[in-house]
Amino acid sequence: MAEALLSVRDLVKHFPAAGDWFAQIFDRRVVRAVDGISFEIERGTTLGLVGESGSGKTTTGRIIVRLIEPTGGEVVFDGIDLLKLKGRALKAMRKRIQMIFQDPASSLNPRKTVGQIVAEPLRVHGMVRGRALEERLVHTLELAGLSARFLNRYPHELSGGQRQRVGIARALAVGPEFIVCDEPVTALDVSIQAQILNLLMDLQEELSLTYLFIAHDLSVVRHVSDRVAVMYLGKIVEIWDVDAIFSAPKHPYTRALLAAVPRPDPEAPPRKVLHGEIPSPIDPPPGCRFHPRCGRFLGEICREREPSLVTVDGGVRVACHLYRQGA
Ligand code: SF4
Repeated sequence: MAEALLSVRDLVKHFPAAGDWFAQIFDRRVVRAVDGISFEIERGTTLGLVGESGSGKTTTGRIIVRLIEPTGGEVVFDGIDLLKLKGRALKAMRKRIQMIFQDPASSLNPRKTVGQIVAEPLRVHGMVRGRALEERLVHTLELAGLSARFLNRYPHELSGGQRQRVGIARALAVGPEFIVCDEPVTALDVSIQAQILNLLMDLQEELSLTYLFIAHDLSVVRHVSDRVAVMYLGKIVEIWDVDAIFSAPKHPYTRALLAAVPRPDPEAPPRKVLHGEIPSPIDPPPGCRFHPRCGRFLGEICREREPSLVTVDGGVRVACHLYRQGA
C-alpha cells in the first residue's frame, strides 16, 4: 500500500445506553457504536465506508473530525496522532480536515447568508479579511458550482442541491486536504445526486483531496471510491478494492448488501433482501455479530467465536469463519 494519509487503529466508541447522568446510575449498559476498527486511506484516494443505519459509520466520521471523543484507539493523520491534539495544534489541524454533512437543510444556519456561512471557518481561523475575503468566498463558491450572486441568499431560498453545494463550499473554504463526506447525497433527489457526486470527484482531482465517503447505498459508493470498507454493528467485516468487492464480494453481509442494490434491468431476477433488522449495539450477538441473519451460518463456531479480520486471496480483508486461515 502507498503512503497512508489517515490511519485509524483499534478505534472504539461506547456511549452510555441511558440518556442523562441520573438514568446512567441505574443503567450501566453501553452502546457499542464502534468496536475496534482499523483502516488506512492513501493520500488522494477515497475509502467508501458502507453499512446499514446503526453500523457505526457516522460515529467513525465524527471521531475523525473530533466532533466526538473516542473511548479508545488512535487516529493518525499525516504522522500526527489526532486524538492527542489540543488547543492551537487542534485548531490548526481542523483546517486540514473538514466534513460535509448529510442534511444540508439542517447543517446550515437559516439566519445566515451563504456568504456568512462560507466565511465562518475563514473567520474562525483568521485566514483572510476585507477584499481578499470576498475574493476567496467567490472563488470557493465557484469551486462548488455556485456564483457570486448566491452570496447574499439565505439557505431557505436555495434548492437542496444548491444547499449541499454551500455545505461543500464551507468545507473547502479553509483549503482542507482531507474531507469526511457523511452521506452527502442521501437527502437529495436522485436527479441531483449524480451532479454532487461528479462535483466531489472533480474537486478531488483538482485539489488533490482525500475522502472518507460514508454511505448506506453501495451504488453511490461504487461511483466514488477506490476502496470500500463494509461495517456491521460497530465492526469492519470486509475491506477491499472497489472493483473487486463489487465483482467478487466475500463476506455474506457484503453479498447481501450487493444483492439488495436495485437493478436497472427489468428482466433481472427478483433481488434477495437482507432479512431482519440490525440487532441493537447495546447487546450485540455473541460470536459473529452477523450470525442471526447469515445465510451461510456454520453453527457453533459462528455463534461462539468472533471472527477476526484476516487477509485472504487477492488481498481482501474479511472477518468470517468461511475464510478462516488454515481451514
Ligand atoms: Fe456467516 Fe459465520 Fe461468516 Fe458470520 S462467520 S458471516 S455467521 S459464515
